[in-house]
Amino acid sequence: ERDSDKQAPRSTAVGLQALSEGLSKESHGWVQQPLYEAALRSHVASAPRECELTTHYGWNVVDATETDGEWSVVLEQTERGGRHYAEGGLDGLATDDTAAPKAGGRVRQTVLARVLVGCDGGRSSVRRRVPGADLCGQGGLGASLTVVFRRPGMEALLRRQFAGTPPGVAYCFKKEGGWPASVWQLDGAAELYFGFVSYPSVSDAPAWLSDGAGAADAAKALEALEAACDCAEPWGPDAEARDSWFWTPYSLCAGKWTLQRPSAALAGDAAHLLSPVGGFGMNVGVGDAASLGWRLAAILNGWLAPDAAFSGYEAERREAWARCNDYVVSERARLMSSGSRDAGGRGGAYETALLGACVDGRARVGLRLPSLPGALLEARGVTLVVVGDDLAAAVEPAFRAACDRIGIPCRACSVDGAEAAVAAAFGDHRLAICRPDAVVTHLSAASLPDGVADGGSSVAAEALLLSRRP
Ligand SMILES: Cc1cc2nc3c(=O)[nH]c(=O)nc-3n(C[C@H](O)[C@H](O)[C@H](O)COP(=O)(O)OP(=O)(O)OC[C@H]3O[C@@H](n4cnc5c(N)ncnc54)[C@H](O)[C@@H]3O)c2cc1C
Repeated sequence: ERDSDKQAPRSTAVGLQALSEGLSKESHGWVQQPLYEAALRSHVASAPRECELTTHYGWNVVDATETDGEWSVVLEQTERGGRHYAEGGLDGLATDDTAAPKAGGRVRQTVLARVLVGCDGGRSSVRRRVPGADLCGQGGLGASLTVVFRRPGMEALLRRQFAGTPPGVAYCFKKEGGWPASVWQLDGAAELYFGFVSYPSVSDAPAWLSDGAGAADAAKALEALEAACDCAEPWGPDAEARDSWFWTPYSLCAGKWTLQRPSAALAGDAAHLLSPVGGFGMNVGVGDAASLGWRLAAILNGWLAPDAAFSGYEAERREAWARCNDYVVSERARLMSSGSRDAGGRGGAYETALLGACVDGRARVGLRLPSLPGALLEARGVTLVVVGDDLAAAVEPAFRAACDRIGIPCRACSVDGAEAAVAAAFGDHRLAICRPDAVVTHLSAASLPDGVADGGSSVAAEALLLSRRP
């Protein structure tokens, strides 16, 4: 969107429609970056916290070097400053009152950091500072054209053509002998859309697209999109191209995600790149953040040493990326041949890629506890979940005593084994311990992990927080 068009976007949550196969079971919701960033900023500004938190909006990391086992990070103020670009229209944003850059040179400052987390995107500069972390894998998966356009009446046009199918947020096409194309509604009120054309390789795309300036010709790109779509009615002169770009979807993952000394970790696109098929990229990044957030808190609060806190992070999150990547690569192949995707329904390939083996409802160490209501979870510490009140009475005192010893917030709750979801989750087990991100670290018939009742605080913290996968 151009600056003049920026306004508070609307959120939509409707089914994603795979036209050739009926309505898919994949639920869909736009994460609007302006809204999402605004929510994060407002949370950072207002959340009660146990430690001091300083934000540096509008500063670039320009260098990071080791100083006595810590990071010395050089920040440089950007020209644009740290004001959020949607600030005008959205509430709850922290104001940025940093001084304007000095004439003749940018303002710089150096901060010391015990841990550096590279969440700086696919071209991550932090990744270059982690030996062995170069991106590896399959590489490019063909080529894609994206066009953003406005077309009053587009929804009605699509509905006339697809009157026999339920309305959806996306409409997918594949002409005989052509390449898959789709149009996605961004904003119902303004009839703003974006569309994709997926090519098997750059050489299958029109030559003008790859000659640099070509893809920036949004009007020409819109013609290519319309030609690839199999719409019964022409889009006509009311279709207005807003932006376009020609890009490469990647399947890549960093060779290494963490560094011990000085301590560093990668998250999001800095650690992995996924083709957008399936919409996993940001989701996996948010999963990384959920897995990293409590680890950083554990370091800052002194519950765990950095090495212990980061142990298991890479293996766990790499596995999540690999599940999604396998799905994406195979679904992209299906898309190229048939023009449609198959989410697989409840418990199918899509959900399995997202949730892992616990998609079947059974609890497993190292995966989120299925069907744990958020209200029961201690999101700043550990949660003990036991089936039945008698067991709760037997183990809860030792659990709480260990948490007090460590200084970690805790919650204990008992659930009803007669409930179907609980019975499916626990099977023969009756006791689970969950980390702050709801991942199970311990599953047992009746006992707490070794070291919780009688170990020192670091032993007990590791036993409670770190999953020992079978
Ligand atoms: C066409 C397309 C469609 C997609 N669709 C989906 C989808 O439907 N669902 C989904 O889940 N994902 C989707 N994705 C993927 C998703 O956009 C990315 O996975 C996600 O944005 C990655 O977030 P990130 O924060 O890791 O990296 P980025 O979004 O790249 O953010 C990195 C940030 O770091 C900043 N930065 C970089 N270097 C520095 C530095 N030196 N100093 C300070 N700051 C720095 C950058 O300015 C940027 O703000 C799609 C991607 C594409 C290309």
